[in-house]
Amino acid sequence: MEKLETIIIGGGPCGSYTALNLAEKNIKVAVFEEHEKIGLPTHCAGHLSIEGLKNLGLYPLPKEVLENVFYGAKFYSPSGREFLVKFNEPVTCIVNREKFDEHIANLAKKAGATYFLNSPVKSLIIENGKVNGVLVQQNGKKLRFMAPVIVDAEGANAKLLRQTYLESQSRGAFVYGFQMEVEGVEDLDPNVVEVFLGKEYAPGFYAWIIPKKEQRAKVGLAAGKGNLRELMHKFMHKHPAASPKLRKVRILRESIHPINLGGPIPKAYSDGFLIVGDAASHVKPTTGGGVILGLNCAKIAADVAAEAIENEDYTAKFLSRYQKRTMKLIGFDMKVMLTMRKMLNQISDGGLDRLLGFCRKIRLEKTVKDIREIDFQGRIIIREATKPGVLAFAVYLFMVYFFSKR
Ligand SMILES: Cc1cc2nc3c(=O)[nH]c(=O)nc-3n(C[C@H](O)[C@H](O)[C@H](O)COP(=O)(O)OP(=O)(O)OC[C@H]3O[C@@H](n4cnc5c(N)ncnc54)[C@H](O)[C@@H]3O)c2cc1C
Repeated sequence: MEKLETIIIGGGPCGSYTALNLAEKNIKVAVFEEHEKIGLPTHCAGHLSIEGLKNLGLYPLPKEVLENVFYGAKFYSPSGREFLVKFNEPVTCIVNREKFDEHIANLAKKAGATYFLNSPVKSLIIENGKVNGVLVQQNGKKLRFMAPVIVDAEGANAKLLRQTYLESQSRGAFVYGFQMEVEGVEDLDPNVVEVFLGKEYAPGFYAWIIPKKEQRAKVGLAAGKGNLRELMHKFMHKHPAASPKLRKVRILRESIHPINLGGPIPKAYSDGFLIVGDAASHVKPTTGGGVILGLNCAKIAADVAAEAIENEDYTAKFLSRYQKRTMKLIGFDMKVMLTMRKMLNQISDGGLDRLLGFCRKIRLEKTVKDIREIDFQGRIIIREATKPGVLAFAVYLFMVYFFSKR
């Protein structure tokens, strides 16, 4: 095999997008994926902003990847109170995550990246404090692969990261997501996603119904505590707004996976080593969405790795520019989203009822109708804050939060 310049651990979207950006710069890159097929097993709803994908050069998507597009979202309080935000054009979409991951991997392969499937990385090879390579299990043998830059894209569990001195996100910041694909959903508007707020059904997060075609949907919830199956059963059979839609569904697939809501890990680089995607916790603490922000940071990782190769400098000092650039891009938004997550977690179910009632009363949907980009939420808040409706909402939110805390 030719001498490698970069190794990527994990063939998820962030690993493959890093590989794609490196291969496009003619850098020799190999991706090691533990499973025998890219994209499987899936654990994600695949709900993504169209603007976010466009900015990454990934939209329009191939037909087999795109499952549906949405003009807005309907929010429900625990007692079933609704608040609908709808736009004139599609703002988000849902992708088949298996096909989406495959699509990015295929782009990377076409650009020149090499993929090794069925190849779990068992450990990092660390020499004199520098990550120099990986030990990979292939066909019953343990093989060493070396490269000057190793990119860790192993996802939320981030087991290999623990081999380094770098801090991974504490388990306290995790919620666990229960995701299902179902058929036979009733009374669903195929043009909007549905979000169900409240501690009673999803403590520490929310539940969702994302319509696909032909009465199929992705249904899920995540929670920081409680038994996920019991919560899901209660959501499907007792929630005043969700249960009439879900009572008769047939479950086609299900999965459980962690989501890290703690904001980015404090340091996502060391000598010869960069961390991307869920492993670096580049995930929105408000919604748990990690694809768009993760891909944005993966692109920065590829740029920095390429610069390191050009300068033959793989030191932590050189690679620290990855941290600087990613934090410049997402740092402020992450701080705002972390605060929002903390506030949402504090608000009582009664408070959420009042909040959604207030949104309807002031017709907030009319004020926010120009928002297209939903990933960098800190910036959106700053931009929209001067609008009277948004200001009124913010004041009311603080009041509800304050009185929920007491
Ligand atoms: C229930 C749920 C719903 C979600 N819904 C959304 C959503 O709607 N929108 C959104 O943007 N985000 C969503 N997310 C988050 C999203 O799934 C992640 O942010 C995204 O998958 C991160 O991509 P990644 O490439 O960093 O990690 P992953 O997609 O987890 O990929 C990591 C890859 O590394 C491989 N791997 C791990 N360890 C090794 C090893 N030692 N050796 C080799 N390979 C290894 C894995 O097999 C996997 O292929 C959801 C998450 C959950 C749990």
